[in-house]
Amino acid sequence: MSQIHILPPILRNKIAAGEVIERPASVVKELIENSVDAGSTDIRIEILYGGKRLIKVSDNGNGMEKEDALLCCERYATSKLLNEADLYHIRTMGFRGEALSSIASVAKVKLVTAPIGTHQGVSVEIHGGEVKSVKDSPSVGTTIEVRDLFFNTPARRKFLKAHTTELFHIVDRVTQQALAHPEIGFSLVSDNHEIMRIPVAASLRERIMQIYGEEFLDGLIEMDREIAGITMNCFVAKESNLRSRKSYQFLFINKRPIRDPSLTHAVYTAYEGILGQKKHPVFFLFLIIDPVAVDVNVHPTKREVRFENKEPIYNIVLSGIREALPLPLQSKPYGVPSASVISEALELEYRPSLSFMPLGDAFIALSGQGGLTLIDQHAAHERVLYERLLRGVDLNSNRLLFPKQVQLSHKEYHVILSNSSTLKDFGIEVEDFGQNTVIVRSLTEALKNADIRGILADIASCLIEGISPDRELRETLAAKIACHQSVRGKTILKQEEVDQLLSDLQRCLHPDNCPHGRPTRIVLSLENLKKMFKRT
Ligand code: ADP
Ligand code: MG
Repeated sequence: MSQIHILPPILRNKIAAGEVIERPASVVKELIENSVDAGSTDIRIEILYGGKRLIKVSDNGNGMEKEDALLCCERYATSKLLNEADLYHIRTMGFRGEALSSIASVAKVKLVTAPIGTHQGVSVEIHGGEVKSVKDSPSVGTTIEVRDLFFNTPARRKFLKAHTTELFHIVDRVTQQALAHPEIGFSLVSDNHEIMRIPVAASLRERIMQIYGEEFLDGLIEMDREIAGITMNCFVAKESNLRSRKSYQFLFINKRPIRDPSLTHAVYTAYEGILGQKKHPVFFLFLIIDPVAVDVNVHPTKREVRFENKEPIYNIVLSGIREALPLPLQSKPYGVPSASVISEALELEYRPSLSFMPLGDAFIALSGQGGLTLIDQHAAHERVLYERLLRGVDLNSNRLLFPKQVQLSHKEYHVILSNSSTLKDFGIEVEDFGQNTVIVRSLTEALKNADIRGILADIASCLIEGISPDRELRETLAAKIACHQSVRGKTILKQEEVDQLLSDLQRCLHPDNCPHGRPTRIVLSLENLKKMFKRT
């Protein structure tokens, strides 16, 4: 008896769904893309329980005829590709005809749609790949409801995370799509609360502002360029707006959010010499390339693409961003003493009004009997503030006369509010203001004129990306805040300030390093100076 048989279509679709639909956010992405392809200008997304119970996407696009509505959930059913030649000129987000069939095979789907210009529509229900009902139903545009995702694939359902985590993934997807399509308005409602409302925007610039706020946009440089048929429009972080984490890095090819390590590398290369301690640039990169030169058919969720010729694209990214950024100062090391002769931890003999010399605007030099001490004023100040924050004393937190409204992305908003009591211990008092906005009521003296949005975003991204297990949450947050509060290089300190800094440092539990582990002071002892001058 033969052993081989062809799998029935329902099982084929279930298997295929494994590649395309990983979690609720994948459904959201596929449905939004279909609405985009249907020419919609307004897309509404509603979610219950992080999308596990319901994902509903409604649009005002072209809609479908009854016949098409009955066909669209079949595998390989697509209106976007007719013949092989089309495969090399893809201008739509979808083309494989797999999404709806995959979704319908692992969830309970209700599709209500009517072709544009008519209200005579149809409602089709499909559960786990089986058509349950077909009815006439008036509609404008298309609404697709997806309930009980993975109800018939328990192994998959088990892998779903807590509903806030799934919601975060959905927010990421909606954000990506909103960035890719400024000409479309989006709204996202989760458990009956509207958490994103993004009206139609006139430009990318406006879209970034709608999502992240004006202050965030101020930290970016815009750059447009066109070479050899490749168009690049990008927003990249100014030197003053680099991040300690890889948040806010976006790359779109022909409006498709993709990952591409080599183009990301081009961005980092453009920042060479600027990145320093904070190692990650923010970037929003939008490239438009002739579809003939890009193969989007290499990944089931189209997350990756293949380029016919990567080099010109790499170069345009590198040279474009490099031009947008001011040149870093070239510093030539000049007779640096070798590590063997410098010490980081010799006792500093501190006396009030110790005479000092500013070295540039970041260091001070002090002389004492023991030799020469160099202090990194930012690192020293960070250490002092960090210990002060952890002890919760001398914070000098003041209620603001004019509380500040800060608009955040939804994720940031969520984690900031859920950690508001810890922030309060550190002198930052925030309250919910709805619509992804918080009100800052109190701040420490040192933060009064700081970029509070940047600080909250920085704290949020460190909470979102997770705290390393060897550190406590409080310590991590204290280090973050201390870093923002402390003297940011580029300040020449007065005598009283130096006195204060040195006496505060002296009283620290661990005065020799900043909270990130960099030295606060380096001592060149007389002994070692003699060695360096070959006196011994
Ligand atoms: P693909 O997008 O790759 O064509 P899908 O399975 O996502 O495959 O969708 C199948 C077809 O259903 C699409 O080609 C399109 O014709 C139709 N369709 C899906 N969603 C919509 C929508 N929101 N509005 C109009 N037509 C739609
Ligand atoms: Mg599609």
